[in-house]
Amino acid sequence: MVLAFLELEQGEISELSLQMLNLAADIAAQMNTGVQAVLVGEDGRTAAGDLAAYGISEVHVVEHEELVDYAPEALAQGLLQLMAALQPKALIAAGSDRGNELLARVSVRGELPMAANCIAASAGEGLRVTRVRWGGSLLEEAVLRGCPALLTVMAHMLAPIEASPAGSEPNISSFQTTLNADDLRVRVTAREPVGGGVSLNNAPVVVSGGRGVGSAEGFDILEKLAGQLGAAVGCSRAVTNNGWRPHSDQVGQTGAQISPELYIACGISGAIQHMSGCRGAKRILAVNTDPEAPILQRANYAVTGDLHEVLPALSAEIDKLA
Ligand SMILES: Cc1cc2nc3c(=O)[nH]c(=O)nc-3n(C[C@H](O)[C@H](O)[C@H](O)COP(=O)(O)OP(=O)(O)OC[C@H]3O[C@@H](n4cnc5c(N)ncnc54)[C@H](O)[C@@H]3O)c2cc1C
Repeated sequence: MVLAFLELEQGEISELSLQMLNLAADIAAQMNTGVQAVLVGEDGRTAAGDLAAYGISEVHVVEHEELVDYAPEALAQGLLQLMAALQPKALIAAGSDRGNELLARVSVRGELPMAANCIAASAGEGLRVTRVRWGGSLLEEAVLRGCPALLTVMAHMLAPIEASPAGSEPNISSFQTTLNADDLRVRVTAREPVGGGVSLNNAPVVVSGGRGVGSAEGFDILEKLAGQLGAAVGCSRAVTNNGWRPHSDQVGQTGAQISPELYIACGISGAIQHMSGCRGAKRILAVNTDPEAPILQRANYAVTGDLHEVLPALSAEIDKLA
């Protein structure tokens, strides 16, 4: 059996987890076995019913009174205990920050082989995976020997698994994990809101700024445009390095991986590490003073000009429509 670790986003199975289920189902079919799901805690139990639409009939809910929020070491321990009981052939998770962190911890604690950011796999002697390296500039073939194999699925490279008319409710079983104080050293203790409201991960439109914005205050015009479009504000690493925006706004290899309908890249050159975060965007509009900037090779639309003139002009036109 292939065990699929599912993440939730506002109580629902996350988009990246649905993409991951596509590869999970493929690997399970090659192994002549099925996919079983693992979720965490009370919220996981509530979301488990949704899995009938994806052909999953067995769901395991890892539970512990202290496991109420993200706690990667405790979760890793819980997954290792669950795997000892179920003996899956593979454990697969989304290639999100959390999915990658969690499986890395499972790998170290359990001395199991792991490959991150996979896009394909073939089962044979060991599990041969194709995985994305170096921000998308290299596809690497690797073989995972050892059981269970651990892998995460590169974000936004596979389509989400398609829902079919709901079958029968899955069988949901509780797995009570045993944890000690050490397992709970790393956990969420408080949450503070960041940014203006629209989440970067789900926003249909993202207005993103790079070094060309020039300063933290320079982002006011991006904020204004984002407010008019119901968009989120993102940025490049040059911006977070300069302390103009928090890291939670960063798009790219070491930031968020997003797939908006429209990505408006202002004063961003289009380095490969940046583009790996917005490769899932359906459309890219670049605003750049340099007509040779690399981002123009990826952009669907481009305005060659100073963003400090272009964005206020765009906002003024939108104001006229209101
Ligand atoms: C391991 C590693 C991981 C990395 N991870 C990330 C990551 O997650 N995300 C990320 O973004 N980067 C990442 N980087 C950094 C990346 O390589 C680039 O350095 C970075 O993306 C450049 O940011 P930028 O485009 O804002 O700046 P620059 O490359 O300096 O580009 C600025 C652009 O603004 C234009 N411009 C200047 N003034 C104006 C103006 N007034 N109006 C319009 N256009 C203007 C310029 O023509 C230029 O194209 C990573 C690098 C490494 C080595």
